[in-house]
Amino acid sequence: MTERIGVLGGTFDPVHHGHVATAVDVRHALGLDRVLLVVAGDPWQKRGRVVASAEDRLALVRCAVEGVDGVEASAVEVERTGPSVTADTLEALGGPDRELFLVLGADAVANMGTWRRLEDTKALATVVVVERAGDLDVDPPGAGWRAVHVRVPRLDVSSTDLRARLAAGRPIDGLVPPGVIAMIRSRHLYTPTR
Ligand code: ATP
Ligand code: MG
Repeated sequence: MTERIGVLGGTFDPVHHGHVATAVDVRHALGLDRVLLVVAGDPWQKRGRVVASAEDRLALVRCAVEGVDGVEASAVEVERTGPSVTADTLEALGGPDRELFLVLGADAVANMGTWRRLEDTKALATVVVVERAGDLDVDPPGAGWRAVHVRVPRLDVSSTDLRARLAAGRPIDGLVPPGVIAMIRSRHLYTPTR
């Protein structure tokens, strides 16, 4: 039996309901066994802009998916040193009895041209282009990709906005699972130190 596994990578700085809702909807739409939220250890395209440590971001994602059927956190990129490269990650997660589905938002697909080892990525996974209502229709760059499109609702929440809210002392309830909020508070994340 081949296991069908979704791979949703991100910085998750911090994780929010948009990430979880997307993982759940893609799993349902494609009948995947599991969807992994893969926390970037060293997101080289965001260097200098990542606020929380990989360990904290991973702990928040673990908390966010607790009790969510078929959705798990993956530490594979956090445990590896060096920049996070998608093809490396897919190779680490793949296997003879596994079929991988690389889940990407339209923004991430538009950025694929800058990826390292882009050509190698084609053979490693089917790309799942997640389309939020209002997004432009996008496809991976060049020929030879296996790609499917999944519509998901547009939840207007982003990690950037959450960091700004926390820095300004504004609430984030309803945008992030309650357990994650408690962990952000107890670890004193995203708030100015005084
Ligand atoms: P930032 O604001 O720092 O860029 P983000 O909220 O976009 O953070 P990322 O960690 O960059 O979060 O996102 C990881 C993946 O989740 C990307 O593929 C992105 O397209 C997707 N994503 C981000 N926000 C949402 C959302 N509100 N709904 C669905 N998918 C989302
Ligand atoms: Mg983003």
